[in-house]
Amino acid sequence: MNQFENITVKCPNPEHTKNVKYVCFDESCKEQRLYCHECIKIGKHVTHLQHQEELPFLFEHISRIEKESDDLINRINKQMDLIQNDFFLLIGGIRSEYQISKQQLHNLNLEQINSFLSQSIHFKQFELTIEKLLQELIKEFQDQITKLKNDLNLFALDYYQISKSNIEKSEELFKIGYKLYRDDKYEEAIEIFDQALNFNSNHQLSLVTKAESLKMLHQYNEAIIWADKALQVNSNHYISFYTKADSLRGLNQYNEAILWIDKALQINPKDFYSLFTKADSLRMLEQYTEAIIWAEKALQINPQHCFSLYTKADSLRMLDKYSEAIIWANKALSVNPKHCNSLYTKGNSLRQLKKYKEAMEVIEQSLKINANHFDSLRIKGECLHDQKQYQQALVFYDKALEINSNHQWTQNRKSIVFLTIR
Ligand SMILES: [Zn+2]
Ligand SMILES: [Zn+2]
Repeated sequence: MNQFENITVKCPNPEHTKNVKYVCFDESCKEQRLYCHECIKIGKHVTHLQHQEELPFLFEHISRIEKESDDLINRINKQMDLIQNDFFLLIGGIRSEYQISKQQLHNLNLEQINSFLSQSIHFKQFELTIEKLLQELIKEFQDQITKLKNDLNLFALDYYQISKSNIEKSEELFKIGYKLYRDDKYEEAIEIFDQALNFNSNHQLSLVTKAESLKMLHQYNEAIIWADKALQVNSNHYISFYTKADSLRGLNQYNEAILWIDKALQINPKDFYSLFTKADSLRMLEQYTEAIIWAEKALQINPQHCFSLYTKADSLRMLDKYSEAIIWANKALSVNPKHCNSLYTKGNSLRQLKKYKEAMEVIEQSLKINANHFDSLRIKGECLHDQKQYQQALVFYDKALEINSNHQWTQNRKSIVFLTIR
């Protein structure tokens, strides 16, 4: 707001010589909102003196409304995400209710086949109902949105006539900020992007790179607000979609992350980072087969990406494909030998294959790099547990629980040890 603080404006009344001193905040007032001493003398605004403020209050007001409208946008965006999410769940429901593979059919008993048939015979009726209902709801929604949009346009003014020199200044500042961003100096970069945006609030690259910098600082909610602003300037920019999606992943909102990453991938299907974000979100949603498909797409573009290799390895482990998991964990470790998550995946897979000695060695390696690596601690406990070294197992379950005391799996394993040695 610095650019406003020393503002001096002449009173809009052409007969007055003084500068604006006051602002009228009365809701029903029809006079000029900005006015001077002389205006009061001729009786302007005197009927509602309780709503008059001195000029500097205007800047507080502007900042407050900016923040409040950002918060509103954030809230209604989240509501839309939730709707879209519900919608995908509905689609999933339709699939699981009405679609069945030959393989699945073979595994059903007669009673189950009977109930599937009864359902599918009613499909036509369901189809009619859902289509009619959705059409009505969507039409109502679109009508209301159009109405709201028209109301806004009534008051839409062309607030900013951005001068050519201001556009050039914002470009120059962006380049400086971008260099700081590339050097991982995110806080400093944000300061420069803010300056660029003071000259041109619609500078899209400054908006999105500010969002990306906030994401790198783990300020995910803020990052989403700025990615939304970038999308308002250009609703077809895949990096803005990616930044929003990856911030949602940072907030553990994986379903929403996938909604937005799909928009990025629609524009740029070969964006490596978007492919990885999708793969990792799917893994976190325990959709391991899908996660592997998307990790492989990322790896086609960048075969040496440690996190994508790990995502594939750990998804294979979760699908009980331990030998393959070890192969892919080894690939991740050949890129980064100190990647504790990959060491954990390898160690845990070896344990599942009952190669306890090798498993222990790998887990030890991980704990040497990070003595507080949660998964390595709990799986060291599990490995000792498997080898009936109950007291030692308890030591490591406890160490893991010191880091994450609410971890249900570890608590359960610990109770089992107690029941065994009782
Ligand atoms: Zn005046
Ligand atoms: Zn007034």
